Amino acid sequence: MAQPMAMSKPVSKSANMDEGLSEVSTEEIIRELLSRLGEDPSRQGLLATPSRVEKSLAHLTKGYNEDPTMILRGALFDEDYDEMVIVKDIEMFSLCEHHMLPFFGKVHVAYIPKGKVIGLSKIPRLVEVFARRLQVQERLTRQIADAIQLAIQPQGVGVVIEARHLCMMMRGIEKQHSSTVTSAMVGCFRQKETRLEFLSLVRQPGAEG
Ligand SMILES: [Zn+2]
Repeated sequence: MAQPMAMSKPVSKSANMDEGLSEVSTEEIIRELLSRLGEDPSRQGLLATPSRVEKSLAHLTKGYNEDPTMILRGALFDEDYDEMVIVKDIEMFSLCEHHMLPFFGKVHVAYIPKGKVIGLSKIPRLVEVFARRLQVQERLTRQIADAIQLAIQPQGVGVVIEARHLCMMMRGIEKQHSSTVTSAMVGCFRQKETRLEFLSLVRQPGAEG
């Protein structure tokens, strides 16, 4: 698991890259990257870029410092309800671990309780904890399902993610409007009937609009 990014410390210009980068600030590394890309990091528009990039990356990967168990703690309730609970169209933004470029889309989560339910607002939070890390879509899908399974031991969990990947779109590999769909089905969601019910509910336009 990645270490949280250290906040920038001022570093002397003579910092020797060969001696390892641990003493070099993140800002300095980004400034170096800009130079290697052929830019002039001292021009006006780029002066604050290293610090902005550092803060932005720290925000986009803050999920490393968050524990899904802690987020769900205090939001688990005893409940006899045993029909499908579904939270759909959860906005998701993540970074692909291969190119560190965004992939983004919608997450649909469903489960059938067995004595316990999760406060509904916590499900988007759970998605965010895993999305704000370097990811592959398949693992993100699986981690959300596993975290719910672990937290409440329901009869089953289903997670579907539809996402578009800038690393594919910007390089022309993916057609402009195609999206990648992944799913993770646990417990009773592996049964055809339950899975189809979930998928048909996902396709229906939401009641909220
Ligand atoms: Zn990628």
